[in-house]
Amino acid sequence: MTDQAHARAVRRQAMVRLGLFFVVIFAVAIAVIVGGIIDVKPKALQEEIRSTGPLAPLVYVVFSGILGALFVPGPVMAIAGGLLFGPWVGIPLGLLSAALTAVVCREISARLGRNAAEDLAGATLGQLTAWLDRYGLVAVIAFRLLPAMPDAPLNYAAGLTRLKAWQIGVGTLIGSIPRTLGWGLVGASAGGGSNWLAVAGGALIVAADAGGALIAILAARYLGISPRALIRRMRGQPAEHAASPWRGQPDPGASPTIAPMRIAIDGPAGAGKSTVARLVAANLGFTYLDTGAMYRCAALASLRGLPPGDVDVDFDAEGAVYLGGEDVSLLIRTPEVSSLASQVAAEPDVRAGLVARQRELMSQGDWVAEGRDIGTVVAPDAELKIFLDADPLERAQRRADQLGADVQEILAQQQERDERDRTRQTSPLMAADDAVRLDTTGMSIDQVVAKIAELAKSRGAAA
Ligand code: C5P
Repeated sequence: MTDQAHARAVRRQAMVRLGLFFVVIFAVAIAVIVGGIIDVKPKALQEEIRSTGPLAPLVYVVFSGILGALFVPGPVMAIAGGLLFGPWVGIPLGLLSAALTAVVCREISARLGRNAAEDLAGATLGQLTAWLDRYGLVAVIAFRLLPAMPDAPLNYAAGLTRLKAWQIGVGTLIGSIPRTLGWGLVGASAGGGSNWLAVAGGALIVAADAGGALIAILAARYLGISPRALIRRMRGQPAEHAASPWRGQPDPGASPTIAPMRIAIDGPAGAGKSTVARLVAANLGFTYLDTGAMYRCAALASLRGLPPGDVDVDFDAEGAVYLGGEDVSLLIRTPEVSSLASQVAAEPDVRAGLVARQRELMSQGDWVAEGRDIGTVVAPDAELKIFLDADPLERAQRRADQLGADVQEILAQQQERDERDRTRQTSPLMAADDAVRLDTTGMSIDQVVAKIAELAKSRGAAA
């Protein structure tokens, strides 16, 4: 089977597994709710929960958790909370149950659906991981504030990514405040409170919808999410900006440094170069260049029987990689391509072509480029050079976590690749004499990024 046919088969299987996962959840929801196992009308819920006496608050939270996971809309539970316990106790309990539901759904889909999601969109999810590590909490709050966002599907989708349980729990708690407050007041009014509570609740819901839409738009801008770019990406089209910085045509007038600055980050496989370089670039407003992706494209070309020394590689603003115009972001991340990349990267002709292209890209503007020979060959006069390293087992563990693969297998492949990269004749992997060496063993991504950004600022990058 060719690599493309294999990738297609894996994607098809993953799609079926994911589809099955959602069908089973829907089937359970329909059996429980439409089948009448639980009566989900707020009044009926009120009676059932009230009959449990002093345990009622606990029963309410657990019940809401289960019903929320079964697609019962959040407002139903918030109204029931207000009805049962009045505004002061009902609303906090409603918030608690919304957060609990979110965490429960995340756990279910993380355990049952994530592997399939990673098979389907491994590279994209890998890129999402670094982003979610940093912005996950803000993203959850923004989504919760959006009007008409269905709770349960969002919760299940969160589990397919590497969004952490605390991020979705805390984000849901904060982002659900306006609507839970509104619906809780409506419920409290129906439960015998003043009619004014219902008026206040209704006004709050309308304000929350309008304000939520506005806040979400602002958050999306802050996070750099453009729906148009996402749609283009899903369709496999390159970003529309001809002057996208990924294409090596940064606006020279927009340089955030006084003089252009290049940061070279080199190091062995799994040292965290890609994640760190991407975040440093975002932090400083520089352009990121993943030179490893270029060698991976050369390897993919070679697998397809094409000359690896003559590849047309391009990137778009979202980080997708194009080979001759085709989006190959996923195809270049297979173990087969990883292993072949370090073989074709040892060929002097391949290196000559790609190094020339990398120098051309970096000839204008501010860059963070990562690879194996940036500080020694591609940009030996770079303003800042970093050599990132980490304990081999920790490097392998990071990759294994990212890919959901076996750590010993990754360790063996990594050793083989590092050995080839270090011992090849042309541009072997090594630290430049003037590189700052950073051992990231035991360091968090944020610590490494902060350290490099600090070094860059001390050498002239704008703060
Ligand atoms: O960084 P990444 O693992 O994606 O790189 C894939 C391979 O490309 C490496 O194993 C290495 O052999 C090669 N490479 C290189 N020089 C670079 C970047 C990557 O030789 N500047």
